Amino acid sequence: MLMASVFQSLCAACGGVCDFNDILCESCSASIRKIDARCTNCGHPLNINAAFCGHCADQQIDHYYADYIFEGAARKMILEVKYAWRLRGVSQIGRLCGFFRVDFSLYDTACVVPSHFLRNFVRYVHPVSLIKKALAKNIKFENLLRRTRNTEFQSKLSRRERARNIKGVFETKGGLKGKKIILIDDIITTGSTLREAAKALKKAGADRVDVYALFARRPA
Ligand SMILES: [Zn+2]
Ligand SMILES: [Zn+2]
Repeated sequence: MLMASVFQSLCAACGGVCDFNDILCESCSASIRKIDARCTNCGHPLNINAAFCGHCADQQIDHYYADYIFEGAARKMILEVKYAWRLRGVSQIGRLCGFFRVDFSLYDTACVVPSHFLRNFVRYVHPVSLIKKALAKNIKFENLLRRTRNTEFQSKLSRRERARNIKGVFETKGGLKGKKIILIDDIITTGSTLREAAKALKKAGADRVDVYALFARRPA
């Protein structure tokens, strides 16, 4: 058992044996559910397909792309990444990333929402860094955003508190006039952090800001 564990990992969802470089075994990985309903106008995940939705009127984010529902094995996977002591799962996350739906040639650049230093320190690995690694061959990433202050962990807050907590927290160097940007994140929850990031990019002149996230919380 001890020898085997040197070359094998335990699946974060079921505890069974999985590939050394992976986080989930094959069957748990296959259990991750694709988002199968969305707004055809803005792309936001919905519980039934619709031609428009409450997110369409958003002035900051032009289009949403998200692949899987954040529950079950997907949740366990992200938690495992956040508190892992070694980097694993890059290729598994790469295999999950649905970049077949996103035409990266439409964008000038990609960027991730920066987490502040303390958060990077508490979490050894930020899940979005694995997605960034997996997508690096598809598009150039630039650090376009900077946090102006530390914020409370968003997960502890209600939807309204999240929006207030995050207001004005990002700034850019400017000079993004006419740029088409895709913001990359691990999970879309309420979207308030992503909207605030997109707002800063638009203020700096960005022409279009779309979002790609590997997961989205199950739509209500
Ligand atoms: Zn498993
Ligand atoms: Zn919509």
